[in-house]
Amino acid sequence: MRILVLSDIHANLEALEACLDAAPACDRVFNLGDVVGYGANPNEVIERSRKLGNIFVRGNHDKACAGLISLEGFNPIASLAVLWTQQQLAPETLEFLRALPAGPISPVEGLQCVHGSARDEDEYVMVAREAYALLAQSAAPLTFFGHTHIQCGFCVQKQTQLGQVIVPNYQTAQNTQKFQIYLREDTNYMINPGSIGQPRDNDPRAAFMLYDSGDLSITFYRVPYNIPVAQKKIRAAGLPDRLADRLAEGH
Ligand code: ZN
Repeated sequence: MRILVLSDIHANLEALEACLDAAPACDRVFNLGDVVGYGANPNEVIERSRKLGNIFVRGNHDKACAGLISLEGFNPIASLAVLWTQQQLAPETLEFLRALPAGPISPVEGLQCVHGSARDEDEYVMVAREAYALLAQSAAPLTFFGHTHIQCGFCVQKQTQLGQVIVPNYQTAQNTQKFQIYLREDTNYMINPGSIGQPRDNDPRAAFMLYDSGDLSITFYRVPYNIPVAQKKIRAAGLPDRLADRLAEGH
């Protein structure tokens, strides 16, 4: 089975469309949350995402935009984006967001999807030490996570408990690029496809991945998209300038 894994689209329609155009054929699509917040097309992005399938976990921005949590813990710029998004959401979109499940969910045996981590949907797993601790007690050999907007992976070999960080190594920062790894059966993994709508790993290209359970491969992708159009929409909507600027910076 070939599974497309999308995360942190953040209402960026241009980035999402570019990724879907670049994506290979797949059997299923998993969405790791933060479908909305920051970008200018929340309704359109949700509509497009729902057409791809029904496997979603909720992100912190989805919860905030749906009015399920307070804005405590959100910085001023993120809060402004949440308030703006709340005003834009169509009733049906709002209903969809409110009903999104918390992770972890396990749509396939041996695999779990989370937004932050399996123990806390809002946790940022940024460094290897934290990931290794989670992997040591993981309920599934394979965890897909998002939230940090950084395309990467962490793994721990079950017998030796030796850990390793996986960082895609691309030949250029232009064009669409792929980076493939093969998973080992004796190892637990946490893999982050990166963010489609607001990358923060110093590569402004939209990020996603494909998991092939047949040959146990993960293929990371980076895809250029029309950043000026996304920026123009953010500015025209009256959203904070920083949200437009950072798209070109990739952090
Ligand atoms: Zn996010």
